Amino acid sequence: MKKIKSLISFIDITFVVLISGFLLYIFVDIFNISKTLKEMQKDKIALAIKNEKETLTTLLKYNFTDELKNEIKKIISHSKDIKNIEINLSNRVFRFNSYESENKMSFKIKEGEIVVYYENNLIKRFFEKYFVRFLIYFLIFFPIIFLLFWYIRTKILKLNLLAKRLEKINFKKISSIEKVDAFYEIENITKAVNTLLKQVNLFYKNQKEFLHRIVKYKNQLETAQSISEMFSWDYDCKEKRFSIMGKNIKILNLKKIKTLDDFLSHFEEEDKKAFKKKLKSACLNNESFEMIHTFITDENKKFYFKSVGKFIKGKVIGVSLNVTEEIKRQQKIEFLAYHDPLTSLPNRAYLKEEFSRLLNIAKRNNKKIAVLYLDLDNFKMVNDTLGHENGDKLLITIANRLKSVLRKSDFISRIGGDEFIILLYGIKDKNSIKEVINKIVNSLKEPINIKQTPIYPTFSIGCAVYPDDSTNMDELLKFADIAMYEAKNKGKNSSKFINEELKKQVNEYYNITNELKSALEKEDELILFFQPQIDLKHKKVRGAEALIRWNHPKRGLLSPFHFISYAEKSNLITYIDRYVLKKAFETLKKWQKYFPDLILSINISPNEFRQSDFISNLKNMLNIYKINPNRLELEITETISMQDIAYTVNILEEVKALGFKIAIDDFGTGYSSLNYLKKLPFNTLKIDQTFIKDLEKDVDDLIITEMIVQIAKVLKKETVAEGVENKKILEIIKNLEVDVAQGYYFAKPMPKESFERFVRNFDYNKFE
Ligand code: C2E
Ligand code: CA
Ligand code: CA
Repeated sequence: MKKIKSLISFIDITFVVLISGFLLYIFVDIFNISKTLKEMQKDKIALAIKNEKETLTTLLKYNFTDELKNEIKKIISHSKDIKNIEINLSNRVFRFNSYESENKMSFKIKEGEIVVYYENNLIKRFFEKYFVRFLIYFLIFFPIIFLLFWYIRTKILKLNLLAKRLEKINFKKISSIEKVDAFYEIENITKAVNTLLKQVNLFYKNQKEFLHRIVKYKNQLETAQSISEMFSWDYDCKEKRFSIMGKNIKILNLKKIKTLDDFLSHFEEEDKKAFKKKLKSACLNNESFEMIHTFITDENKKFYFKSVGKFIKGKVIGVSLNVTEEIKRQQKIEFLAYHDPLTSLPNRAYLKEEFSRLLNIAKRNNKKIAVLYLDLDNFKMVNDTLGHENGDKLLITIANRLKSVLRKSDFISRIGGDEFIILLYGIKDKNSIKEVINKIVNSLKEPINIKQTPIYPTFSIGCAVYPDDSTNMDELLKFADIAMYEAKNKGKNSSKFINEELKKQVNEYYNITNELKSALEKEDELILFFQPQIDLKHKKVRGAEALIRWNHPKRGLLSPFHFISYAEKSNLITYIDRYVLKKAFETLKKWQKYFPDLILSINISPNEFRQSDFISNLKNMLNIYKINPNRLELEITETISMQDIAYTVNILEEVKALGFKIAIDDFGTGYSSLNYLKKLPFNTLKIDQTFIKDLEKDVDDLIITEMIVQIAKVLKKETVAEGVENKKILEIIKNLEVDVAQGYYFAKPMPKESFERFVRNFDYNKFE
């Protein structure tokens, strides 16, 4: 049977069934009633006859016909049904009337039977009796049922309509449902549905907003991840499942990574092992870990990532951040910390680490190490004449040539401007070292072209050997350095091995610098001597040059020759210069009263001249001593004044502005360019004593001196001749119109008191 799906069809069928049931019932009822009525009719007839049976037969027996007729008449009038009664006796028949019909009943009596004819009009009578009732049934109940049915049906149809409307609701654009019916319940349902829809709408809106926000956050997170070049991942410790989130970093192609092995396949071998180990231990011990590892992309590009993993609920949650830039920067910093940026060779720091490492190995294996100290000859000149840029080019070429002739195992470093140190590990003997030195020398045979000029650089090379010369690294370096200086002093372009004599000198250097330090602390060991300078035009003492002497406790009075070069090398000279400056200020302060016209000259070392607080120190002293700065002359050598002309001009301008006098010392020994000399603000030109000393013998010196004097005249500078040792020289310089003379002929440097006496007693005529 087909299922009845719709309530409507169910109601329809029910209605039909009910109606037909009702009709059937009526029909059955009528049938039953008529049947019962028939029986009842019969019973009634039988009862009426039974009671009268005796009477009727008796009346007929005795032939009381009239009475019989009356009796029957009575019976018939009592019963609407009985129409005729026939009494059959054996001998006679009696009929009341002629009515005959199918409907008859017979009653047995002794002598015969009584037949009763009756009329069967029960249905008619029933209808007569019940028609109205049925009519009422039909007229009242049926319409009521029908109306009821119709009402329910339409309401249900309305509900159906409501359902259909509900069905058609677009959840993207929910609008309230129209009223389908005004009836209270359906209206309520509609209202309830609308409230529900409103809530759904609200929920949907919230949901949409929420989703929107989630999408926004997700995008933001992904953008942030891609900007910061990071991604996150997790690893299920139990299931060993690995997954990556934030796959935005395109170059990494993270989308392809599905398993831990995929991920690790991008690591360098060592990192792979370390990462696995850390992950495992994080899982086992619920720990966190952090490591920096490589990540090689499919295009074989190398990145560095910092991964941080944290154990949370059976998983290791991790974040990996691109730190390539930092690592590269760090590597670069490390490289720069250990390499010379110009030639990319190892620097001094690297040399020291490598050297101490090699020394340890050599000690264990009984090997030798040769230390070669290389210094380019005349590099300063190249730098000054061709410019720093070309000087750099030269250094790079030389570094490359060194690399090309030496073995990979030889360690080459650049430790200063033009200084290289080479370590030869495992070298056999002096001959082998000489062979290497030859290779180095030969590598420079081919000229280096700079600005189309072929340059033939040469090295001065010093050598010391472990363990023959020393087992101490610093000492070995020092020895090689000293040997190099020796080679340079002996005429450059040569090499020298350290020897006992040189070692002694080194020891002396250390002893002297140590002693000098304590002398500077004590002060009274360092004293100033004064050498007079004579004004040849006015025939009087112009002033003096202050010259340092060291009153050494053991060795007695030492001239600067014994310690100045050491002091310059160890930079102790700046302390000496400041000390001398202070003494000079003190002296001038004192002279203000007695010798107000005297000029005191002091020597400024290259080291001091390059001190950043050189000027401020001068200002400071001037503030303290308040002397006439015009009385103090600062001597700087020609060589340093020409080294960095811009710097020199700058500083000298400031010195001049403070009011001090400036002298260019040892003029003629350096490489002065007249062009530069013109720019320098100075007052006095001190002609070097090497020209003056031999003036009477050497015509060249005479010509040079004459020229210097002429130049000074053109530039309107005062000239001082140093090293005036005899009367003849004095005559010559007087003829050359030199302004001032200084030398043993007048006086050797002397203590202050002696100088003051010299001034008081000075008589120029004595020297003429
Ligand atoms: P310098 O500045 O050229 O000083 C002149 C040197 O020539 C002095 O030597 C002086 O004694 C010497 N001299 C003077 N007249 C004659 C002469 O007629 N014949 C000979 N043969 N020599 C003469 P000294 O005092 O030994 O000084 C040597 C160098 O030491 C100085 O050369 C100067 O460069 C340096 N020096 C001396 N004192 C100081 C100082 O206080 N500070 C600095 N930075 N350097 C100083
Ligand atoms: Ca001097
Ligand atoms: Ca001089």
